Amino acid sequence: MSHYAVFGHPVSHSLSPRIHAAFGRQTGIELNYTAVDAAPEAFMQALDAFAAGGGRGANVTLPLKEAAFALCSATSERAQRAGAVNTLTRNDGQWHGDNTDGIGLVRDLTGRLRLDLRGRRALLLGAGGSARGVAPALLDAGVSELIIANRTPERADALADALGEPERAHSRYWEDLVNEGDFALIVNATSASRSGATEFSLPFQLSTPRTLAVDLNYGEAAIAFLAWARTAGCRDMVDGLGMLVEQAAAAFEIWHGVRPDTAPVYAALRGKDASLVTAD
Ligand code: NDP
Repeated sequence: MSHYAVFGHPVSHSLSPRIHAAFGRQTGIELNYTAVDAAPEAFMQALDAFAAGGGRGANVTLPLKEAAFALCSATSERAQRAGAVNTLTRNDGQWHGDNTDGIGLVRDLTGRLRLDLRGRRALLLGAGGSARGVAPALLDAGVSELIIANRTPERADALADALGEPERAHSRYWEDLVNEGDFALIVNATSASRSGATEFSLPFQLSTPRTLAVDLNYGEAAIAFLAWARTAGCRDMVDGLGMLVEQAAAAFEIWHGVRPDTAPVYAALRGKDASLVTAD
């Protein structure tokens, strides 16, 4: 049986072990997938121990994606554009890095939800590992403009610069967003709600009823932003559960060469048939 894991800090909340177990059952691939809590200073050592124990692949979640990028001996083009890695594959004793966050988000929005992102003026909140993954994918999906705002403005500047599309992608100070008009897409890629923030502070004039509000978070962590979006009058609101399943499917395909069917796993996680995704 081959070994896989998700590394993060914290990581006990992660649904990835259940998702990969469900994909394994669906495709008849035997695998063992666990969650490993590793603080940034302990990440390298934990990953070495995992590899020594036969680890073949790993997902990486907050706050380790940029560190994962730095330790890879080879990276995919989309990981390079993101400067962040969420999928590690052990090849010839070295880690190869990819980033499936962006494709996961876009597949969920344009595939499962059949939404068209082309021509939308987009606001991306956050500039951490996941924002780095989704920003290039949003540009590839055809958004007309991408404005990035982050609590630490230097990280938004760095992300906008790294995207290399000065015509379409710019950074703005969070406090200046009030002067930016409205957006047809607002993506929350911050982890603000994980630190206990129960309200999301953003001017209501950024949205219109046609604005699609997307939170990469799911469950309780998505409540604050989606409540803001509802109060601001957005009709279309999406949490990050579908993206989570899609980014996992893309990682599964990299490791096992088989693309699982995401729909039943998504439905199970939403609670429509919990027996499909059990806690292994
Ligand atoms: P990182 O730790 O890399 O980045 C966190 C981001 O949130 C930074 O931009 C940080 O700003 C910002 N932030 C943190 N606290 C606050 C706050 N109190 N107010 C405003 N901004 C804040 O995390 P990731 O980018 O990896 O993940 C971000 C969120 O997205 C997580 O909650 C994660 O669970 C979720 N996610 C969901 C996925 C899915 O598949 N659905 C996939 C990936 C992530 P600063 O730079 O100033 O610190």
